[in-house]
Amino acid sequence: MARVILGEGKARPFWYGHGWVFSGSVDRVNGRVEDGDVVDVVDSTGKLIGRGFWDARSMLRVRMLTLGPEPAVDAELIRSRLERAVALRRRILGLETVTDAFRIVHAEGDGLPGLVADRLGSFIVLQFSTAGILRFRDVIVETLRAAFSPAGIWERLPDIPDDVLPGRVPGVLAGAEPSAETEVREHGLRFTCDVKGGQKTGFYTDQRDNRQIVASLAEGRDVLDTFSYVGAFALHALKRGRARSALAVDSSAPALAHAEESARRNAIRGFATERRNVLRFLDEAAKAGRRFDLVIADPPKLVRKMADLRSGLRTYFEINRKALAVVSADGLLATSSCSQHVTETAFFDMLSGAAKAAGRRLQILHRGSQGPDHPVILPHEESRYLKFIVARAL
Ligand code: SAH
Repeated sequence: MARVILGEGKARPFWYGHGWVFSGSVDRVNGRVEDGDVVDVVDSTGKLIGRGFWDARSMLRVRMLTLGPEPAVDAELIRSRLERAVALRRRILGLETVTDAFRIVHAEGDGLPGLVADRLGSFIVLQFSTAGILRFRDVIVETLRAAFSPAGIWERLPDIPDDVLPGRVPGVLAGAEPSAETEVREHGLRFTCDVKGGQKTGFYTDQRDNRQIVASLAEGRDVLDTFSYVGAFALHALKRGRARSALAVDSSAPALAHAEESARRNAIRGFATERRNVLRFLDEAAKAGRRFDLVIADPPKLVRKMADLRSGLRTYFEINRKALAVVSADGLLATSSCSQHVTETAFFDMLSGAAKAAGRRLQILHRGSQGPDHPVILPHEESRYLKFIVARAL
């Protein structure tokens, strides 16, 4: 096994279990190594820190898997990590009693760097983003099949182009191919989504708990769900939260078609959709004097790399400023950012600015994040990406 020797003074975070060895921390490599190989990572004095997957393509040269001289990295280790991930969702969180849509594996957060696995109704969707984890594809497919007996397992490519492994194409890894319409359940509601062509892996399981919080605040309110995707916030607000009305706005026609279909399947009334650019919709709504008692803003990831931070924050600012302009007096704003590079502090700063520009003050009622099926193993805080804030706009 090749040895990756870290530069002097670079080893500290890895003794604590940090997951990402950037190229700048690597002093040299002893031995031959190919992308996807498991390597020993040692400090500058030669002491073994742990093992990880090597990838020369990526700035993240090594993604750590083990700490210390722990068991070898083999199919058994991967299988036991998968089983531990399944046990978290099934036995500790009891997610299957409320939903059949959840994240089974959250990469580093489950000790499996480069692997995302989502259960979505009767299908499982996998994304591989390290050559190392891809070598364990067979044991991954077999273990998940045994655990969930899915109708099929589908491979999707990651959303970030840099994470897409050369030569990968989407396809069936086991069982049947999903159609363009998969049904999932969440807290008593049925949603349809497209696990092959839809956003992310088809459904945003990370907002599950936040949708319940919004629903708990929705009674009797006129709700505006911007960047609605398949309308999960809006439909929960109506059905579980007894909102008076809900309008879902999104630029994607297929997403809104799923939202309409889901409203039908749950016999929900008071729901409408508009296919629009949210920023333009908000400008026109404000100009026309339209007001909503609860506005949700859940834009897509706007900061994909550190270099986009400033421009991304500017867009978050514009969205939130415009959203606040249509919140009724003392109404509520539920706002999110799923960009890992935007810290909660930066998000609050942006929100303060947006509130000032909108002539409002924000009273924070709730601060949340992704659900516990998207866990974080300290000190790998990079796995915590979602910010979710509910505020009253005074
Ligand atoms: N709130 C959703 C997830 C939103 S994902 C849920 O809980 O499931 C982000 C959505 O924003 C996508 O559906 C995408 O189509 C939409 N979108 C991105 N940019 C947009 C824009 N400028 N105007 C309208 N919709 C946009």
